[in-house]
Amino acid sequence: MTTFTSERVSEHLTRIITPCGVCMYLAEGTQRAALMDTGFGFGDLRGFVESLTDKPYVVLLSHGHMDHAGGAGQFETVYLNKRDWKLEQWHATRERRVWDVRHGPGGMPEGVTDDDFLPSRTEPYLPMGEEDLFDLGGVTIRPVAVPGHTMGSLVFLIPEDRVAIFGDACGENTLLLFAESAPIAAYREGLLHLREFEGQYDTVLRNHGNFRSPKQILADNIELCGDILNGTDAAIPEKFFAQEGRLGRPKDHPGKAGNILYDPNKKR
Ligand SMILES: [Zn+2]
Repeated sequence: MTTFTSERVSEHLTRIITPCGVCMYLAEGTQRAALMDTGFGFGDLRGFVESLTDKPYVVLLSHGHMDHAGGAGQFETVYLNKRDWKLEQWHATRERRVWDVRHGPGGMPEGVTDDDFLPSRTEPYLPMGEEDLFDLGGVTIRPVAVPGHTMGSLVFLIPEDRVAIFGDACGENTLLLFAESAPIAAYREGLLHLREFEGQYDTVLRNHGNFRSPKQILADNIELCGDILNGTDAAIPEKFFAQEGRLGRPKDHPGKAGNILYDPNKKR
């Protein structure tokens, strides 16, 4: 049995938290709503969302990883950047999701069993990119492309609430060491593009950890990309599951909000 919890984070945004600590966001306008991300795909997320809103809604995925796309099978209308379609197919299988939660930092949450994991999505996704503005009535969601963590990663801007949901695209332990990640130089370009929208938000939200970061995290990670490219970062060996990479800053890095775990062979 899986129970979700929710909390209001801004005028139009509600955070939905899963038992394993991943969260997603529900934006509600006067006409319709949008669920951003779906977690690992266990428990009746759809039922929970429909207990929060009675408006028609769409589902938007920030990227194709299993802890964001895993629950997409429960919903009809789901958008995902085309660049992550193939990734989602192999990454978000039910088998991988069960394995990953069980072997992740917190293990299988108490009360959750394998049976709670829902089948993966078999219906096709709808494409989504920067050209798609989602007008919910009095509130809009604007996707901004930030290839890096995955090639199809999107940041969701909600200008009316002055919020940017960074997802996994820019964080306190940004994972850039995967086969599906962009080289550091290309990632830096994506972050510079995101910076063009800095005037439209004050609050940075994420889907992991404490779900929130100071706005300076973007500048901090742009700076760190420069250091990595110059070879002047801390480059501390660090593992994510079995994969070894380099951490750009020490884990304890006072005064800086961002960090990046990257593949030292994939800088350019
Ligand atoms: Zn991810």
